[in-house]
Amino acid sequence: MNAENAEQFDVVVVGGGPGGATIAAVTALRGRRTLVLESEAFPRYQIGESLLPSTVHGVCRLIGAADAVADHGFVRKRGGTFKWGSNPDPWTFTFSVSPKMAGPTGYSYHVERMEFDKILLDNASRVGAEVRQRCAATRVHEEDGRVSGVWYQDADGDERLVRARYVIDASGHKSRIYRAVGGSRTYSGFFRNIALFGYFRNGKRLQEPDSGNIFCVAFDRGWFWYIPLTATMTSVGAVVDHELATEIQGDPEEMLYTLIGECPHIADFLSDATRITDGEYGRIRVRKDYSYCHSQFWRPGFALVGDAACFIDPVFSSGVHLATHGALLAGRSINSVMEGILGEESAFQEFETRYRHEYRVFYEYLMSFYAMNVDTESYFWAAKQVTHSGGSELEAFVDLVGGVSSGDFDLVEGGGEAMAQRVSTQSQGLAHAVQQVVGSGRDTAAPLLGAPVVHQAMQESEKVLARALFGEKFNTEQPLLPSGLISSPDGLLWIRPAG
Ligand code: FAD
Repeated sequence: MNAENAEQFDVVVVGGGPGGATIAAVTALRGRRTLVLESEAFPRYQIGESLLPSTVHGVCRLIGAADAVADHGFVRKRGGTFKWGSNPDPWTFTFSVSPKMAGPTGYSYHVERMEFDKILLDNASRVGAEVRQRCAATRVHEEDGRVSGVWYQDADGDERLVRARYVIDASGHKSRIYRAVGGSRTYSGFFRNIALFGYFRNGKRLQEPDSGNIFCVAFDRGWFWYIPLTATMTSVGAVVDHELATEIQGDPEEMLYTLIGECPHIADFLSDATRITDGEYGRIRVRKDYSYCHSQFWRPGFALVGDAACFIDPVFSSGVHLATHGALLAGRSINSVMEGILGEESAFQEFETRYRHEYRVFYEYLMSFYAMNVDTESYFWAAKQVTHSGGSELEAFVDLVGGVSSGDFDLVEGGGEAMAQRVSTQSQGLAHAVQQVVGSGRDTAAPLLGAPVVHQAMQESEKVLARALFGEKFNTEQPLLPSGLISSPDGLLWIRPAG
């Protein structure tokens, strides 16, 4: 086909996962002609089953999908139960610990991604986006230094061009087009893990009221997730150091059972369970889950959201949150430019700075969380002794964080050493809070909110939740950046606060 008779849209979104479906809905709801190109036919398998409240009650409400998600009957997740850090007993973190997430939004869901992602993509279509499945983007189209469209192969194998004012890459970690944004993807020197996972029937459940919680258990060689996906099906995954990759790839099934055998809590929970061996859930899968971040998220006509832009270790279920949050931010920027409220540069700076901020906050949170294991004999910290620090394990860890982070991303405020100090202090604060939770003997996770790193990680999510629930009423959103911008009452634009 030639470029002259190409179709024209306002926005073309590549990828129909949570990031793509969210931004497509955000722009379609404000009347933008929006097209989604998805290479697969939904439902399709994806990992990332444990969600956070701001996604299901915040972003999903803003895009009109919250009721469909709520009506589906996914397992309710009140929080997470962790065998993590020096405490010998599991401890529990509940979302309702935050006053803003208490009451009707004090929970999230565990979802079969085949179903959740389809709900979101159907919603994008319902609110006005056109969705084309089995259409794989191959490269972006550029004119005069601006991305002005995308080439794709349609379901019949024909190559087509579609033009757009904005092309969004939401095609995940395997994106074929993210490089067109310029810059480079930097992999974290710290989170370099590999995940090995499968599905089981009739695994045990935590005691009520925590039976829907994600259960994360650290052991010598890494940690396990144990996610109750339905009343009888459990997603079980081990996250271990990348040095085990060769052994894992040799015989993933045997390795999964070996690791389960090394982790008494998970072995006990699976003692009466059988592994599912047929259908989409029948395979044991392996994913390198190295964390990475791209050095720039946009250029004129083009932006990255979700795993195409950045990814962090899955221990705190932040993947879908970051993808949908980033998509909401980018969607607001597109709408604001196209409605003549902001210039492109300021609108997209708002998107990029806020998105990086959220990534950085979670990155440090997760580092602090991992650092809580420093006084155990576990894999993380034994491996970290490569730093040969003469001091305590905590000092070795701080050295390592400082060393790797000084070359890592532009994540670091004040340099690697400053970050290492922050992580060390935050980690000790977290460990202290956990001690109080366990020591209180009550069903309360309130001390955790007192840990600044937890408070910080929840802040932006809480703003999205408040915007989704209250609109203008009771919403007291403050700007994050010197630009002074906040979200509009419908949550779909950037505006300057009145007065
Ligand atoms: P995706 O969900 O990957 O969607 C991208 C879409 O783009 C896909 O549908 C794909 O088919 C399509 N696509 C790809 N190429 C093209 C193309 N060329 N043209 C058109 N379409 C294309 N996150 C959580 O929130 N909770 C968890 O518990 C969690 N656990 C995880 C465990 C592991 C081991 C890993 C590796 C990740 C985990 N994540 C978790 C992260 C989560 O999987 C991702 O962050 C999330 O799926 C990102 O969403 P996305 O929309 O950016 O990308």
